[in-house]
Amino acid sequence: MGQASPIIGIDLGTTNSSVAFFDGGAIRVLPNALGEVLTPSVVALDERTGALIVGRTAKDIYAANPQLGAALFKRGMGSELKYTIAGARHGAVELSAILLRALRRDASEALGEPVDRCVITVPAYFNDAQRFATVKAGELAGFTVERILNEPTAAAIAHGAHQGAGESTLLVIDLGGGTFDVCVMDRFEGALEVRSVAGESMLGGEDFTRSVAALALMRAGVTFEQAEIRDPDAVVTLIRRAELLKRRLSEDASGTLVVPALKGLREEPVEVTLTRPDVDEMFQTLLDRLRGPCRGALRSAGLNRTDIEDIVMVGGATRMPCVRDLVLSLFETEPRAGVDPDLAVVHGAAIQAALSGGDIAVSDLVVTDVASHSLGTEVTKDLGGQLIHGFFSPIIHRNTVIPTSRSSPFETIYSNQEGILFKIFEGESRYVKDNREIGQLKVEGIPKGPSGQEVEIRFTYDLNGMLEVEATITATGKRIAKVFSRTSEALSDDVLEDAKRRLARLKEDPREKPMVRDVLARAEALLPDVAPQERQRLEEVLDALEAALIQRDMSQIDQLARFLRALCDDLDGGERW
Ligand code: AMP
Repeated sequence: MGQASPIIGIDLGTTNSSVAFFDGGAIRVLPNALGEVLTPSVVALDERTGALIVGRTAKDIYAANPQLGAALFKRGMGSELKYTIAGARHGAVELSAILLRALRRDASEALGEPVDRCVITVPAYFNDAQRFATVKAGELAGFTVERILNEPTAAAIAHGAHQGAGESTLLVIDLGGGTFDVCVMDRFEGALEVRSVAGESMLGGEDFTRSVAALALMRAGVTFEQAEIRDPDAVVTLIRRAELLKRRLSEDASGTLVVPALKGLREEPVEVTLTRPDVDEMFQTLLDRLRGPCRGALRSAGLNRTDIEDIVMVGGATRMPCVRDLVLSLFETEPRAGVDPDLAVVHGAAIQAALSGGDIAVSDLVVTDVASHSLGTEVTKDLGGQLIHGFFSPIIHRNTVIPTSRSSPFETIYSNQEGILFKIFEGESRYVKDNREIGQLKVEGIPKGPSGQEVEIRFTYDLNGMLEVEATITATGKRIAKVFSRTSEALSDDVLEDAKRRLARLKEDPREKPMVRDVLARAEALLPDVAPQERQRLEEVLDALEAALIQRDMSQIDQLARFLRALCDDLDGGERW
């Protein structure tokens, strides 16, 4: 498997994108044609050649003439939004495809062989349409998209935060140029799962840069607003210098910057020295704004800040000491260090890519993901008294968090029907003929009797693409099971045994998880003593949790159990943040 064509990891970012490859145990971040590891996510028209180009040259064209380019199009993924380049309108998928095609070409160049498989990262809050749009863009660029991976998951993997015994809760804080994202994740048995996300789409390193520029102007006796009105060009120059000083102050205690002459305000340029405490004081309002999403993410996960055991920071702006200090004071936990915050996501994507390609053992790394296609069986429907074959009945729906185990009851359609041949398919069409057949499971020994004899079918699906289909004849309890691989045809006995063992664990009763057991007992104990409206709230959450337990929807179960725990804490008067 490892010898097949390489699978690269792609961080398809709002401002910059990057590509990496897991090569013989080490991660190589692949340079673009200009030798840079970050490719600006900008598409522009090269007027000399009439071609649409990407990267730094495109960024320069766009900066000089915004009509000739488009940027920040990741924000339009999954929407109908159009971007106009030299009068022609383009959708976000098309622009992303142009960018991905260039990344693919550069990666092929760097690796010296054709590249057509990839893993692409997306924000954890991306919905189905946005994820689908990302896959589409990848396909248009000529890629087979092996997996869509959440950015915080990728960052956590890059830091090795998925490793360790037992369970833990971690926080991924991503402060990029213009966005701030916070994600609470659960880790258990090497698996990572997104619990909650929060953020602000208009808060990032650029605001800190403007803040440094404003402070320098203040020292020169001018306000930012005055300068912007009177001499916007000089402000652009000043912001460029403020960016350099800001970065310098992440290392040094002080630094200088020259405030340029400002038309109608200051005749002469002036040199200003700023210290780290000066800028930190200026940053206070921005730092305060970082607290809100941190609190919000914890609240939606039903957690207190003391529940956070591990912190991963991503994005260039987390290099600022004031940001690290804030995080440390909020959570009393030292963030993990050692991975470049600009490259953590692409490192994680490369590791995931190696995993998808079978280059590293799954036992070394397990992350949760979502099913990229629905999995189900063929069914016959009784339509107006006529039995029509060939319908697809999904059991695991597309985008369900995996690993997962789901079941569904089926019935015999004829009297004295002793067997059913379950045909297993993946795909999204209502009709099996338009989906892909994965295999078949023959169930025999159904007791004779009228139609409507029940057979329960359970699908258990893991991240390796291993699917176990198990049928239980309700009347006799007889079980027949078979393991299918979505990725390779023949499975060796060893692989099969290993897969069976793993899949068996997924089928364990989620009710027996200590956290679930405890919170159910606690909520039930509280019920008789609470006020009627509170009782109703408790019952609603309990009902939802019961439904998730029946469905074995692990993601929902964990989320609701935590929510219920927070509710019990509230009713008990327990500590909340
Ligand atoms: P990203 O979108 O992750 O590339 O983040 C870029 C942001 O990180 C920009 O606003 C940069 O100013 C900021 N950044 C990068 N390096 C540093 C640094 N050493 N100190 C402070 N901010 C930085």
